[in-house]
Amino acid sequence: MAREYEPVESPDETTVFAYHDLTPPTTADVYRAHRTVSEYLPQTPLVRCEWLSAELDADVYLKREDTLPTGAFKVRGGVNLVSRLSEEFRERGLIAASTGNHGQSVAYAGREFDVPVTICLPEDANPGKVRAMERFGAEITYHGDDYDEARSHAERLATEEGYRYVHSANESELVAGVGTGGIEIVEELPDVDACLAPIGGGSCASGYCLTVGELTDADVVGVQSRAAPAAYRAWRDGHLAPHDTMETTAEGLATRVPFALTQEILREKLDDFLLVEDDAINPAIKRLLEEEHVLMEGACATAVVALMDHHERFKDKTVVLPVSGRNLAVEKLGRIIGDSHATSPE
Ligand SMILES: *Cc1c(COP(=O)(O)O)cnc(C)c1O
Repeated sequence: MAREYEPVESPDETTVFAYHDLTPPTTADVYRAHRTVSEYLPQTPLVRCEWLSAELDADVYLKREDTLPTGAFKVRGGVNLVSRLSEEFRERGLIAASTGNHGQSVAYAGREFDVPVTICLPEDANPGKVRAMERFGAEITYHGDDYDEARSHAERLATEEGYRYVHSANESELVAGVGTGGIEIVEELPDVDACLAPIGGGSCASGYCLTVGELTDADVVGVQSRAAPAAYRAWRDGHLAPHDTMETTAEGLATRVPFALTQEILREKLDDFLLVEDDAINPAIKRLLEEEHVLMEGACATAVVALMDHHERFKDKTVVLPVSGRNLAVEKLGRIIGDSHATSPE
């Protein structure tokens, strides 16, 4: 076992390594990331949502992060991190554990920069997502019955083989990369009043805090499902304790543990944090599909629900919400379209 690659103590319940700098990035770091990310990824459209604008008597814009390759905003972070990887890790390769968009982001960035990538998954991982990661050239390793077991396996392999373990939130370069979407918002819509961000690990909201929050008068407002409120509790109460329950249907937000780096940013800079009912998420996905023909994951639908729950607050305001991802499993989509007729007035 190579000693220099052994885990070091983390302020939260996750595993970090010596190369994880837990100092939050600055707005200047996000600008630096923007120069890199804009070379490799297209700027995403910021499109007025006519339905929500009319419904809420507001100017609501969708930041179409679903148009990125991989279909989710996280690839901005992956590209930035891998572009700055040291020579040593370029050869050894990257490892991550993810059943979803984080894994796809690392796999995509690895292919872009010609760095080998291993993704650890639980045995019952969603085959659609596995196919996407394989298409990006990642090696898939199955281990265990759930995400936590797969994650422990990834950490063990990182220690033994000296792979660069890419954490899903405690990575300054990931957060800076994700923030580049916020720079695009600021440049196109400097008069924005509020920017909503679904929060799982907190990289998306942190990125918007460092850009939209710092460079405009807008409030950055986090959103989480009441059924998985780990980050909300940690933010509100100032701790990093894991939360027992985690039952949300929005897999992009299914995190039990609050993360040290993103919590530090959110505690200082996030203006507000709203919780929504979990059973309102699927009907919101269906409405967006019906009214705008935009397909979104449950994670971003939480922001739509928050907007509707708090319509008085956002009336007459210019509001941005990211379509943070489009990787909704087709079986799930079928159930959503099939079972929520009651939400549609027609
Ligand atoms: C990961 C993810 C989120 C949550 O982002 P964090 O940076 O983990 O807070 C929201 N939406 C989608 C689609 C995601 O993949």
